[in-house]
Amino acid sequence: MTLATIDVRDLVGHPGASREEELRGTVEGLGTELVRVRDDAEIQADLLLESVVEGILVSGRLSGTWTLRCARCLAEFERDFDVDVHELFVERPDEEADEYALDPEAGLDPDQMVRDAVGVEMPFSPLCRPDCLGLCEICGGNRNLGECTGHERIDPRFAALSELLPLLPDDPDAD
Ligand SMILES: [Zn+2]
Ligand SMILES: [Zn+2]
Repeated sequence: MTLATIDVRDLVGHPGASREEELRGTVEGLGTELVRVRDDAEIQADLLLESVVEGILVSGRLSGTWTLRCARCLAEFERDFDVDVHELFVERPDEEADEYALDPEAGLDPDQMVRDAVGVEMPFSPLCRPDCLGLCEICGGNRNLGECTGHERIDPRFAALSELLPLLPDDPDAD
């Protein structure tokens, strides 16, 4: 189930009033090339809702699980995350300010805030482990799994040349 809209009619127009709200739900299609939150992976949020003159201030912590792809070896792995939020929801959001739209009747929809907060924290270059050995650039084997047993290191630019080398006579300067 996707994150539910929060009924805030008890808070809107009552600056100083506040309460806690626990959310649990999913967000669809949230991810980058290497990091995503699975569509069925629940995000949990412990939020404090505070009524202020401008609207509703939402703060707290989001937690969930990322599915990541290692930037070196391309293995997929999961890792838990925690992200703090501190956002203002107002009836008429200022395009310039980082504010979210609040409809006092329909409620406070946390979906976009969660997407933004989690999205901005996604690692650019996730690694399955800090010392991941990555893939062999010659055979494509995963070095972590010992799939590549090693090669004579030949620069690919000279690979074609090296195939010709056995055909050449011995170096006349050798002796
Ligand atoms: Zn890796
Ligand atoms: Zn290899």
